[in-house]
Amino acid sequence: PDTVVVVGAGQAGAGAALALRDAGFGGRIVLIGEETAVPYQRPPLSKAFLKSGVDMDGLHLRHPDVYAQRRIELRLGQRAESIDRERRRVILAGGEAIGYGHLILATGLRHRVLAVPGADLRGVVSLRTIEEAESMRGQLAAARTLVAIGAGFIGLEVAATAAGMGVRTGIVDVAARVLGRAASPVVSAHLAELHGRAGTSLHLGRSVAAIVGEGGRARAVRLDDGTELAADLVVVGIGAVPQTALAEAAGLAVADGIVVDARLRTSDPAISAVGDCARFPCRYAAASADGRVRLESVQNAADQARCVAAGLAGRPQDYAAVPWFWSDQFGIRLQIAGLTAGADDAVVHGEPACGAFSVHLFKADRWLGVESVNRSADHMAARRLLASGRAPTREHLARADFDLKAFAA
Ligand code: FAD
Repeated sequence: PDTVVVVGAGQAGAGAALALRDAGFGGRIVLIGEETAVPYQRPPLSKAFLKSGVDMDGLHLRHPDVYAQRRIELRLGQRAESIDRERRRVILAGGEAIGYGHLILATGLRHRVLAVPGADLRGVVSLRTIEEAESMRGQLAAARTLVAIGAGFIGLEVAATAAGMGVRTGIVDVAARVLGRAASPVVSAHLAELHGRAGTSLHLGRSVAAIVGEGGRARAVRLDDGTELAADLVVVGIGAVPQTALAEAAGLAVADGIVVDARLRTSDPAISAVGDCARFPCRYAAASADGRVRLESVQNAADQARCVAAGLAGRPQDYAAVPWFWSDQFGIRLQIAGLTAGADDAVVHGEPACGAFSVHLFKADRWLGVESVNRSADHMAARRLLASGRAPTREHLARADFDLKAFAA
């Protein structure tokens, strides 16, 4: 193609535009983003950024001048409204049409909406964008109480940050444990203990009946059992759904994400999809009926961006990167290598009570990956093993002196 248009200027979209130039693509690159901020990293938004001290400059994916230097036409504050596949054009909200030889969709996610009375009160916030993070940071500085609805990564990270700032904090989730969908029971229990030790009240197996307001502003969260938790600030972190409307309206295959093949091409080979919005075939997915998954991680967004860029620069390859993820809470680092959904057995190495351990997850005899708490060497070794296809067995792990790093060497 002589022109590549990218819709979505987040981790994956900006990454793809930059990687295209790195890969030697000499044609026109147009990067269209609905947000007005120069492409930035989201992970700090629920962590260090909320405490202040981190400014926008520290968040940029790359220095803002890089785009012009690399001849990437950055079109910020502009929304792509539709795709005209026949004439290969993207139509912007203002009516302008931009022609493409290849189109990359990197549209990310939108918040799942909490449907309870009071969800529209002031002081009820969600977190994805820098704008939302700045608003939350301002409100957090003045808050004495905070309730996180949803004990996923974002809810837990915000709660940990708030508790660390002396804000009285509660966490509510319908699931019986924190990180119920993302981590093993061992890791869930460890994190729940850390939050409890920080003084946070955990309300698991409970749903939210309403958010109670006063003068238009949130005051408390009422649970299904009638309990009221004081909340000057309510953070809703109940997950997100992929932004697929553009793809769907254009007639592309969509099923909880924009469906792509091993080279990340949609059902139209002139259009790729990458990052949080893409559903792709993944050999690490043990729990997926069709072998496809959709992942929400920096690793996945960055690696898929590079894969598509290499293909467009004449070096097509199947996407095969090892999935990994991290989260920081209370100064501990949780790292996950592999896709551990569907695990039916766990072998723990190290001592959760000492704050450093790894959990090896199995599905039958298949080793799926490792969750590590403050054991980065295990995490790196696990990534190497997953990439090479080698795996420790239960017998290996049962040996008292077993060392994953040595095994992976
Ligand atoms: P995004 O970065 O969400 O970018 C998508 C962009 O597309 C958005 O800017 C959106 O406005 C734009 N867009 C959508 N539709 C259109 C349109 N029609 N026209 C123009 N623009 C459009 N991952 C980790 O691995 N570790 C972490 O610790 C971690 N922490 C996180 C903390 C927070 C608070 C959040 C929100 C996410 C976190 N993540 C973390 C996840 C990680 O940030 C995402 O996986 C990553 O940003 C995905 O990149 P993406 O480009 O697919 O989507």
